[in-house]
Amino acid sequence: MTYLLYRDDAYRQTADAKVIAINDRGGIILDGTVFYAAAGGQPGDKGTLAFKGNAIPIATTVYDEEKNVVHVPAQSGPLPDPGADVELALDWAIRYRNMRAHTLMHLLCATVPFPVTGGAITEDGGRIDFDIPKDQVPDRSELTEKINALIAADHPVSFRWISDAEMEANQSLIRTMSVKPPMGTGRVRLVAIGPDGSVDLQPCGGTHVRSTGEIGPITVAGIESKGKQNRRIRLAFA
Ligand SMILES: [Zn+2]
Repeated sequence: MTYLLYRDDAYRQTADAKVIAINDRGGIILDGTVFYAAAGGQPGDKGTLAFKGNAIPIATTVYDEEKNVVHVPAQSGPLPDPGADVELALDWAIRYRNMRAHTLMHLLCATVPFPVTGGAITEDGGRIDFDIPKDQVPDRSELTEKINALIAADHPVSFRWISDAEMEANQSLIRTMSVKPPMGTGRVRLVAIGPDGSVDLQPCGGTHVRSTGEIGPITVAGIESKGKQNRRIRLAFA
């Protein structure tokens, strides 16, 4: 299994690693990585992987069927051998924007108290689909104001690890049925926004900023009907 360095420190941009395997499509599997593999609506990271004077541009990072993190080269070319030492460097501008957008999705979740059915990070922000009764759909400008207040308050974002058993005993923390909490390794990471998670508290394996002020001001770009009760709320960086 690849050790996920970004779960301990999302701000880490580089790392040394060892090649475990090259898969049959030329994807590179390492013993550790700072690259986030696409999951939960957040795109996989881009960057470079360097070895012996070569620098391979990484187009994206994905999970394979066995849950290995696969670094996908942007083009064909020389690949490192299994056992080789490599140096990783993230495309930080894209990753940092994704961290801001991802943390913003936690604030949206915390502000709209209805079941979540899906979501995605986009280039200018992100969106979440909720099941909201017709007469309780939030007002766009009120929602913009509420979320911007949470951002301006610069709430700290922290995390702590709990066991899979503790997670099972606290199912109420799970906000969405479409994204399963990152369980299976014996421990789950709880992400808290505000002191003791007063703003938001949920299991999450994604990448977050250290405090909500880093997100910067946003606007609610749209609230669209996607079904009888389903509403898609789109947020954009202002
Ligand atoms: Zn998260």
